[in-house]
Amino acid sequence: MTHPDTITRSRRVERQVAGMATSDGAGVRLTRVLTQPLQGRLDPFLMLDAFRSDDPDDYIAGFPAHPHRGFETITYMIAGRMRHRDSTGGEGLLDNGDVQWMTAARGIIHSEMPEQEDGLMEGFQLWLNLPAQDKMQPAAYQDIPSTQIPEAMLDDGTRVRVIAGSSQGVSGAVQRPVTEPLLLDIHLPAGRQLAQALPPGHNAFLYVYRGEVLVGDEAESVPTTRMAVLANDPEADGVALTATSDARLLLVAGRPLGEPIAQYGPFVMNSQAELEQALADYRDGTLAA
Ligand code: MN
Repeated sequence: MTHPDTITRSRRVERQVAGMATSDGAGVRLTRVLTQPLQGRLDPFLMLDAFRSDDPDDYIAGFPAHPHRGFETITYMIAGRMRHRDSTGGEGLLDNGDVQWMTAARGIIHSEMPEQEDGLMEGFQLWLNLPAQDKMQPAAYQDIPSTQIPEAMLDDGTRVRVIAGSSQGVSGAVQRPVTEPLLLDIHLPAGRQLAQALPPGHNAFLYVYRGEVLVGDEAESVPTTRMAVLANDPEADGVALTATSDARLLLVAGRPLGEPIAQYGPFVMNSQAELEQALADYRDGTLAA
């Protein structure tokens, strides 16, 4: 059942971030929106990549087999098709609107390859940290087809795809302990407003990928392809959004872990020694065994 969230005070925008053009995998061009210097501020989130191109040269090389340890990756496709294969025997095709939630934990080796030779490829990959106690648990992954992502449909035409957590009385496709992530894809028609409840202690940000939204009581404008870090105002119980044009955005929040973050490429642990162990296990072939 949809019950619109009500809030008494909105968070404001603490800062806006444009992201950094880069390439990863075998040469996929993307924008790294959440970069390493923001990992402390946006704990438990480690990375957000956005990719959008209709030039196959930008994506065709894909992400051949590579390892991960210590965290979760969430891939959300807006347009295009991506084939996933991993060392647990998991395999799936991510299509428009689908989500893949992969818990790398103690180790996984996977490939993520485009299954198209032309046309638009658009989507996101978000990295969510695991608490120290769960970093060495067995790996897992699940594909969530678009049709199985719960949606809150409001009377004014606003549509909220609830990938994780809950929104407007709708419980999402994924619930995770400890970090309690909220991941929403919000489609807000021009002129409409939406209130989303957020626990004051959780770190939160949004990324606008269509149109423009005004955030908070001060109505700060956040344009397309811009991330806004939302201030942790202890008096604020959520965020108020208004679309000035038809807008689509990701809204992300989670409970900070407050643990040390040590990253070496695809490994995110709590200490240098644990990173060295991950590298040694990868070389020995035991990382994903
Ligand atoms: Mn990967």
